[in-house]
Amino acid sequence: MNNINKREISLKRAGELKSRIDDYLQIKDTLKKGTSDEQKNKIAAKKAKILSFFNATEEDWKDWKWQLKNRISDINTLAQLIDLDDNELENIKKVGENYRWAISPYYLSLIDEDKFNAVKLQSLPTGLELVGEGDTDPMGEEFTNPAGSITRRYPDRLIINVTNECAMYCRHCQRRRNISTTDSHKSKETIQESIDYIRNNPEIRDVLITGGDSLALSDNMLDWLLSELRSIPTVEIIRLGSRTLVTMPQRITDNLVNIFKKYHPLYINTHFNHPLEITEESKAACEKLANAGIPLGNQCVLLNGINNDKYVMRLLNQELLKCRVRPYYIFHAKHVIGTTHFNTSIDDGIEIMEYLRGYTSGLAIPTYIVNAPKGKGKTPILPQYLISRGKDSVKIRTWEGEVIDYPNHPSVDIKAMLSNNEK
Ligand code: SF4
Repeated sequence: MNNINKREISLKRAGELKSRIDDYLQIKDTLKKGTSDEQKNKIAAKKAKILSFFNATEEDWKDWKWQLKNRISDINTLAQLIDLDDNELENIKKVGENYRWAISPYYLSLIDEDKFNAVKLQSLPTGLELVGEGDTDPMGEEFTNPAGSITRRYPDRLIINVTNECAMYCRHCQRRRNISTTDSHKSKETIQESIDYIRNNPEIRDVLITGGDSLALSDNMLDWLLSELRSIPTVEIIRLGSRTLVTMPQRITDNLVNIFKKYHPLYINTHFNHPLEITEESKAACEKLANAGIPLGNQCVLLNGINNDKYVMRLLNQELLKCRVRPYYIFHAKHVIGTTHFNTSIDDGIEIMEYLRGYTSGLAIPTYIVNAPKGKGKTPILPQYLISRGKDSVKIRTWEGEVIDYPNHPSVDIKAMLSNNEK
């Protein structure tokens, strides 16, 4: 084949490949995201309104303690800051009698006039929380607590729960039973008991600090906890779970980052669910952590009416990579009481995965996970790419749907072959 033919074939294939994402390219600019000029203007206007209401300054806004102290959790304040109709207000009031809600001024500033805004649906209660069934603890976490505030579900890693406090109480929270009616950090004694358990169980090489939100703890407390864990030689990596990058990015201060730098290898997993949550402020927080050498991962939850859409999820994952956050998991929402209206079908999740693989960078493709009930662990779910397995070959399906035979020969004994070759 001559070079002209090769180029013609390549151009034809390039055209075919581009056509695979024509639908996405057409719709992409119509999808809402927090970094568009239109959204930036809306956020700035809402922020000015909130600052004026609290008689606060730009310095206050940047202070995470101000953000936490001024979480909005009463209906009268809320009604003065965003437009809600009587029915919405009535439902928030009713749900509030059963389940706590609170939202940081920053996260509130991301809500626009759209009745079904993805930030609003995640943060403000609706009447749907009071209908539908579900469990309080589908993961059976109370049966996986061998000491202190530990949750242990796997052989070599575990969780230390340090608080139930969060900058915003997600309406889809899978640990909603822990939110209760007041904020409470675990006592130092309870955390010490957890540390002692890890010290006495040297197979634990990976510790996840979470809650609630691990970054609701003070800098001093985090410094102490991280130094204790780092003093255990068998702890290889430490992970922190925090949604503050999304709901209160002001928490990522220089002082906090300097503390983290002392305890590498340290990873942070966060929880962006929609491109509207990626703003200039949240991007800056991610960059600050990434610049300090902290790998960032995103654990999103597949939520009905928020992100169960192949285009929204593709955009979210691409935007996260631009902030140096690696999409890590898409969790299938569990049947937690008060949240089941957010549940999707498994088919929604599979369709999303189908339209990620091949259509965008592998780096933008998280693993879709169903948490098996009663703490039986994360179970990955994939579209079917392995069609059948024969003795000498398998049938595979490519991302474009072509089914092909692929050889499946037994692995050879390479050491024996190399030895024979040397003779
Ligand atoms: S930040 Fe996490 S723990 Fe806190 S309410 Fe949201 S999902 Fe639950």
